[in-house]
Amino acid sequence: MKSHANIAIFVPHQGCPHTCTFCDQRVISGRTQPPSPEDVDRLLHGALEQMGPRAGQGEVAFFGGSFTAIDSGYRRALLQAVQPYRANFAGIRLSTRPDAVDEEILAELKAFGVTSIELGAQSMDDEVLALAQRGHCAADVEQAAALIKAAGFSLGLQMMTGLPGDTGETTLQTAEKLAALFPDTMRIYPALTLEETGLAALYRAGQYLPPDLEETVELCARLLQFFDRRGIPVIRLGLHDEAQLRERLVAGPYHPALRELCEGKILLDAAKRQLTQQEIPPGPITLYVAPGHQSKMAGQNRRNLLHLEEMGYRCAIETDPLVKPLQLRVERR
Ligand code: SF4
Repeated sequence: MKSHANIAIFVPHQGCPHTCTFCDQRVISGRTQPPSPEDVDRLLHGALEQMGPRAGQGEVAFFGGSFTAIDSGYRRALLQAVQPYRANFAGIRLSTRPDAVDEEILAELKAFGVTSIELGAQSMDDEVLALAQRGHCAADVEQAAALIKAAGFSLGLQMMTGLPGDTGETTLQTAEKLAALFPDTMRIYPALTLEETGLAALYRAGQYLPPDLEETVELCARLLQFFDRRGIPVIRLGLHDEAQLRERLVAGPYHPALRELCEGKILLDAAKRQLTQQEIPPGPITLYVAPGHQSKMAGQNRRNLLHLEEMGYRCAIETDPLVKPLQLRVERR
């Protein structure tokens, strides 16, 4: 997984032909000016001064809209503004819609040094996509992904959980179909109901009930394990914790440390499974986890350890470099 900092350039709702039911980018764009090429130049210049050689590990990332559907003059001007800095950064990353990708635009992006393209797939169920008013279907995702891979870009795919019409089963089918497109990275975003969105209107009309946090943790833990088994890194799970997001949240399974909760659940379930399989009786045990995974094993507010304690196990946590992330080994003490 990448741990470097990208230089994010926010282009809210630029290029979007309409508004998806869960998305508040249009509202944000009403309050935020899209960046000018001069803004991009200033931002990259400042980032370079601040980060020095460390900048070489980060990518310039355009996000928040449908980059390939932006007016071509403005799009090229933004990319042109990055050119003097190309050698200073690891690459250029952008996100866009599956129905706004063709060979011509990919050739243009290649010429400007773009290295990674992320597609907002969201679901591979056409009914879920229609209810979310995405304006594209699953076949568009397959076609765009194939073109992006064939052109030699790194492919990122974004999916959502808990959209109207979605179930745990359709979400897992989405994951299967997306994994079959061989993405280099995945992002998973549980749908949140934000102010001034179509989803908020549905929620207030009683036509949409978002899944709760527990269900979401259960499902996202399964997704994390699914992509882990296939060797596909999940580079993001859940939206970033921002004051603006919390102010605009109407409903939905929001948690600032969602990934920690999911990984904690995976480790707790694995511990319980091993205790049963190895027929370890209640008493003192040691849980060996991958380095850096101790707090995930303990769980938020030590909830995993308290759970095991209630089952009669007094736990110590140790690290073992031979244990893989999201796995563990249990031994009696
Ligand atoms: S395409 Fe993306 S940015 Fe545009 S409205 Fe839909 S979700 Fe929002």
